[in-house]
Order: sequence, then C-alpha cells, then structure tokens
Amino acid sequence: MPELFPGSTPQSAYRESLIASILEKPFGIYGAEVCQACGKVKTFHGWAGAMATHRGGGAFVCLDCSRVPGAMAAGRGNFCEICQGPAWETDGPGGRKYLCRPCRAALGRARPGQRAEQALAHLSPRRNLELRATEDLETLDFNTEVMHLEEEQANAQALQRRQELESEASARLGARHRS
Ligand SMILES: [Zn+2]
Ligand SMILES: [Zn+2]
Repeated sequence: MPELFPGSTPQSAYRESLIASILEKPFGIYGAEVCQACGKVKTFHGWAGAMATHRGGGAFVCLDCSRVPGAMAAGRGNFCEICQGPAWETDGPGGRKYLCRPCRAALGRARPGQRAEQALAHLSPRRNLELRATEDLETLDFNTEVMHLEEEQANAQALQRRQELESEASARLGARHRS
C-alpha cells in the first residue's frame, strides 16, 4: 500500500509501484516544495538545484522566482506546504517549512508520533516524482536500480579488499614472530 499523507496525490497502481521502487533506493537530491514567493508547488533537482532554491534562511524559493530580485519580499506572506494557503505557523528555527493549522493537524493524524518536518521531508521527493511523466519514472527507476547494484558491488569489493589486507597483515605479523 503506498504511503499517502496530506499533500501527496494518489497515482495509478503502475506509477505507485515505480514511485515506491525509486523511493526505496534513495539516490540523489530532488524534491518539490511550495515556493514561498509564488505559492506554487515547484521542483528542484540535484545538489546545486537544492542549494540555489534554499538560499539564506532556507525557505524554498523556486528557480523562476529566485531570478526576480525581491520576489520573496514582494510575496503575500508564507504559503502552507500542503494546501498552499496562507500559513501563519512555521516549524521554528531550522525547519523553514510553513504549515497552516488545519494541515499541521492533518499531518499529525496521518503520521502520529512524527514531527511535521520529518513528514514534510518525505513529502518533498514524493511530490517531485508525482510531477514526472511515467517514462521519466521508468528511467529513474532503472537508473537508481543500476546505481544501487553498483554500490552493493563496490561495497562487496571494498569488504573483500579489506579482508585481503587484514589477512596479509596478520600473515606478515606471523612471519615476524617466527623469525
Ligand atoms: Zn516561485
Ligand atoms: Zn494548509
């Protein structure tokens, strides 16, 4: 069963299976958040993209808006990460995510025992995937699978190399003791 919570949109069974498979293998940085200047859900991709859209205080400002000087200041205040409505509560220092009271309560009901920031951290990559075309999801799933396998292989090789070095070292130590 896909993990749906406030702010996420149910997808077709096939797309849900692709999304679940991609999220299972967390590679790369990507997300979709509510721009605090234009109030729309916008995506970012890669480390550089994340840096460019979370400048200064860390509030998300989409690439289009970040090119407009003063766009944030000219905005109509803060937008709720889930309903995009006016948000008058923040998650406090560091979080820089904005939620309205009803959405915060809905998140709490959907994910009991979890802080709103944590729930929103999960929401961001999922929403990015929701916005992608199915062919894109297929490619991404394939790529993350390949990267996952490569990483496993690299780990196995590193482990083997370490065992070789360790046995070489203990062999040397044994030889020194015997001489
Ligand atoms: Zn924007
Ligand atoms: Zn809201």
